[in-house]
Amino acid sequence: MKVIVESFTMDHTKVNAPFVRRCGHVTTPKGDIITKFDLRFTQPNKESIPTAAIHAIEHLMAGYIREELEDVIDISPMGCRTGFYLIVLGEREEKEILSVLIKVLEKVIESKDVPAANPIQCGNYRDLSLHGAKEYAKDVLKKLNKSYKK
Ligand SMILES: [Zn+2]
Repeated sequence: MKVIVESFTMDHTKVNAPFVRRCGHVTTPKGDIITKFDLRFTQPNKESIPTAAIHAIEHLMAGYIREELEDVIDISPMGCRTGFYLIVLGEREEKEILSVLIKVLEKVIESKDVPAANPIQCGNYRDLSLHGAKEYAKDVLKKLNKSYKK
C-alpha cells in the first residue's frame, strides 16, 4: 500500500519559519474532526534547536498549551528539532493556534523551572535546559510578532 505522509509533501526549502501551518485533518468513523498543526520554530536545514532546549520546551508547553487551548490530544517535538506537531480535537484555524502559541511562548519565557524534571516522570531528565528553552522561545516570539503583525 502506498501512503502519503503529508509533511513529506511540504517543500522544506520554500517555507519561512517560524510559522503555524494547518497540516492535517482526519474525520473519525464517528464523525469527530481531528486537526494537526505544524508549529515550526526554526528554519529547516538552517537551524535546529539543541536537544536539551527543545526537550525543556516540550515539558513546559505540555502544560501551558492545555491551559490555553481545550481538547489538546498531543504536542510533540519533531525529530529534526525544528518545531512541534500539535494535534487537537475539532476544527481549528491557524489564527487561533497562532495566538495560543504566542501566549504559551510568553509563559515559557516567564518559567522558573522545568516541570517533571525527574527520573520518575521523564525518560531523560538530565537532558533539559530551561535557559535554552527561554532563549529559543524569545527568539521565536520576536520573529512571530514581526512576521504576523504586518
Ligand atoms: Zn522528558
